[in-house]
Amino acid sequence: MGRAYSTIAFDPAKCDGCGDCMTACAQAKTGTDDIARSRIQIYGRDGAADKTFELALCRQCADPKCVTVCPAGALSKDGTSGVIGWDASKCVDCLLCTVGCSYAGIALDETTGHVSKCDTCDGNPACVPACSKGALKYITTANIYNEVGDWEDLFAPGLAGCQGCNTELLMRHTLRRVGPDTVLATPPGCVPGMGSVGFNGTTGTKVPVFHPLLTNTAAMLAGIKRQYKRVGRDVQALAIAGDGGASDVGFQSLSGAAERGEQMLFMVVDNEGYMNTGMQRSSCTPYGAWTSTTPVGETQRGKTQDAKNLPLIMVNHRCAYVATASTAYMEDLYDKLDKAIAASKTGFAYLHVYSPCTTGWRFPSNLNMEVARKAVETNFVMLWEYTPQDGLHFTKPVDDPLPVTDYLKAMGRFRHLSPEQVEHIQKKVVENQKFVERMTEHAHVG
Ligand code: SF4
Repeated sequence: MGRAYSTIAFDPAKCDGCGDCMTACAQAKTGTDDIARSRIQIYGRDGAADKTFELALCRQCADPKCVTVCPAGALSKDGTSGVIGWDASKCVDCLLCTVGCSYAGIALDETTGHVSKCDTCDGNPACVPACSKGALKYITTANIYNEVGDWEDLFAPGLAGCQGCNTELLMRHTLRRVGPDTVLATPPGCVPGMGSVGFNGTTGTKVPVFHPLLTNTAAMLAGIKRQYKRVGRDVQALAIAGDGGASDVGFQSLSGAAERGEQMLFMVVDNEGYMNTGMQRSSCTPYGAWTSTTPVGETQRGKTQDAKNLPLIMVNHRCAYVATASTAYMEDLYDKLDKAIAASKTGFAYLHVYSPCTTGWRFPSNLNMEVARKAVETNFVMLWEYTPQDGLHFTKPVDDPLPVTDYLKAMGRFRHLSPEQVEHIQKKVVENQKFVERMTEHAHVG
């Protein structure tokens, strides 16, 4: 895994061209309000008919052309921070770097006669907090990838997931974090389907793995964990199950293990259907969604029931830890993995991860993270955690959610929805949000 760096991200849909970021940068870097000297420039502010704005800012490129074209060696990329630095003592003011940069990230500061570029203010960029519209974000998630990149990937290379599969990403990250002293249960679903249990006599993981039935995953894992304890070995019992098995036929053993407080981490990869066997609906499939068993035709328009809220049901088991997570928010996911592992040392930990399915949800494979993010930004999916001591609280509250149509239109499985169906889903999102908000007001102690 290559090294990743923090970056300043820009969302043009949120920018109204106010220029506050430019003022903040000019003040931080030049001590003046002269936005011409700002290292971040917002374009389209003068008479743009469609009121869209564009950004000119150093992207701190991985393979920076400005560095390549500089004949004086005045520009160089810092291997630790990723920032491209400029050395005034070497610069000959030829301005070739301003031509080499395709993003207009290097400009001439006419006051000084030198080039000027963003240095991210040593990891605390002044422009970001100055933007009250939320159009600028300093994204530091990259640090996680640098940290976990050194840990061993405990799945074999070449798992047979669909292109862009979120589940494979989740499996690899989870097992990296949980570590080698693990016994893994992967019941029927996408996880063994893509090869966690191996192919043709080869192994799929580097930890002991077994393939229970859909119905008995938690029960089998509980028995195996108890046997390890009996012989004095402290292993992490981990299940990575699909939503279908967990919420439908496997629910009785899941509920029983949670009620008994079995010491395990049960992770549900929720792609809202039985995806690996032909994209059938599960009880976690949302209302209105097309699946192969909730078709779209003259009389039926997708699923006619609302989804079961499995993580909230697990809260009512008073598990040691329950949380929802998304791969679009990796810092949040890793934090919850840490807490779930710790909780599973004494009781039952449950982690419910929303996992967009490129094949079953009908969207291009390169949009997986975008779909996952939109789910959270619209409150279609809410990220929270629960312990009996502290009750339930949001970990990524979305106070000003986007309309749910922003999420629905990203996928083919909702393409057929009537305005009434969209209205139903939007109402359900608001109702769910209010319901979870009410739960945050009361700690469930005991
Ligand atoms: S402060 Fe935010 S909204 Fe204003 S111009 Fe800069 S990015 Fe756009």
